[in-house]
Amino acid sequence: MKATFMYGPGDVRVEDVPKPTVIEPTDAVIKVTAACVCGSDLWPYRGIAKLGPRAPMGHEYVGVVETVGSDVRLVGPGDFVVGSFFASDNTCEICRSGYQSRCVINQGVRGAQAEYLRVPLADGTLVATPSVPDAALIPSLLTASDVLGTGWFAAVAAEAAPGKTVVVVGDGAVGLLGVLAAKQLGAERVIAMSRNPVRQALAEEFGATDIVTERGDEGVARVKAMTGGIGAHCVIEAVGTQQAMEQAIHACRPGGHVGFVGVAHEVQLRGLDLFYSGVHLHGGPAPVRRFLPELIRLILDRAINPGLVFDLTVPLEQAPAAYQAMDERRAIKALLQP
Ligand SMILES: [Zn+2]
Repeated sequence: MKATFMYGPGDVRVEDVPKPTVIEPTDAVIKVTAACVCGSDLWPYRGIAKLGPRAPMGHEYVGVVETVGSDVRLVGPGDFVVGSFFASDNTCEICRSGYQSRCVINQGVRGAQAEYLRVPLADGTLVATPSVPDAALIPSLLTASDVLGTGWFAAVAAEAAPGKTVVVVGDGAVGLLGVLAAKQLGAERVIAMSRNPVRQALAEEFGATDIVTERGDEGVARVKAMTGGIGAHCVIEAVGTQQAMEQAIHACRPGGHVGFVGVAHEVQLRGLDLFYSGVHLHGGPAPVRRFLPELIRLILDRAINPGLVFDLTVPLEQAPAAYQAMDERRAIKALLQP
């Protein structure tokens, strides 16, 4: 089968490798229907984060179950499944409290940008749809695997709710779907921070009521001016840089909530600054599995259309071009078709 590997910064290759097989009795092997390139894949692509010498790429996927191990009970061959980017047993104390991405059996899913994928802890990681969904819904279901689930967690962590003003820092796919989530959770006002006209338009389609183009201290001043001088109730941080994190904390009012889901790179918070901000900070790798049943239902009901974040679709063989397009910000998010 074909699978995608990163050899080093800027060096992504699609190669022929043996099909994965069930190794543990809790595994499933799925035939991947669609996968995609994640914003977090760009960190090693840009040389900012390090991976192994030939890293199997991809952790977002939907597909059809081919085979399952002897202990798998909840999904079976032929099921169409959406899975989270972290494998979880969904039974340990951390999973039961809703933090499946920090399951005590800490295991990521890797190698989804391929024709077949081995998913560990299949019963706790995969959610089957009632039937094989309409092809038009595949992109949206794929977003549930990570970006939508992550944007949703950020909005929940920021306590987006009716009557609240939510600021979204970051106009990548996660930030844009954070806008969608905030809107769905009933936020009264959703302020998207973006300088890119295409992304601004998508943010508005997803429910943004205001756009702020300024960044850093100017962006914070603009948000303050729009919120009676006190800052927003809720802020979503979906970038992971020092500037974005500071912008998020400073745009939030005392007593407000910051949901941070951008993978932090070299972010250092100053103690006194944090102390006097008086904000709640809650974030980390999103427990996508917690939200999957609800997100799948909203998508199958056509209540939301998060698949609009895919503005590039290419065959799996062209994965290197997909990385390049996202790296150069020519594409918001690229879908790969095995
Ligand atoms: Zn667990």
